[in-house]
Amino acid sequence: MEERVLEAMKEVLTTGQEMARRGLVAGSSGNCSVRVPDSDYIVITPTSQEYELMLQEDMCVVDSAGELVEGRYKPSVEINMHLAIYEARPEVGGIVHTHQTMATAVAIAGHSIPPILEEQVFTLLGAVELADHALPGTVELARNTVAALGNRNACLLAHHGVVAVGQKIRDALLNAEIVERAASIYIMSNILGGPKIVPFMT
Ligand SMILES: [Zn+2]
Repeated sequence: MEERVLEAMKEVLTTGQEMARRGLVAGSSGNCSVRVPDSDYIVITPTSQEYELMLQEDMCVVDSAGELVEGRYKPSVEINMHLAIYEARPEVGGIVHTHQTMATAVAIAGHSIPPILEEQVFTLLGAVELADHALPGTVELARNTVAALGNRNACLLAHHGVVAVGQKIRDALLNAEIVERAASIYIMSNILGGPKIVPFMT
């Protein structure tokens, strides 16, 4: 297999395992992917496999139509969402989808995270909007996610979790961590009378 595909498989595996280690997902939940540079291929985590038990060769290589090109498992059920984001955002090279606790709590309450932290505004590029609910794996969820992301680097999924994107998958993972910090601070600041918006974002 081509070197750049192998490199993408390694990045997807290590990021998936890092998501689990950092508590952003549990068991086999969530997923992550990389767009293979200068190709029609995307590498994504397989469905229903525990991160800690995954091997590099378990990663799924799919084409831009979602057809499995290489791999012994089925790709993640959220493949539609990943493909839709890559199509809408040519600059995005990596995506992580997590079920992280604080951000999911915000999503379950039906909130988005307003632009409250400078770190959030500079890296995520503004508010973390809430995508309308649709069932996991559906084309409707893919569409709602693309709409909520806009040109920003993360969004919440109603009753579900978080999607974060970046030029590289390690940027996407960092962005997911920033969402979690912003969500925690958002919840805490509501106890203290409500957050204030970053001045230059008002
Ligand atoms: Zn999910």
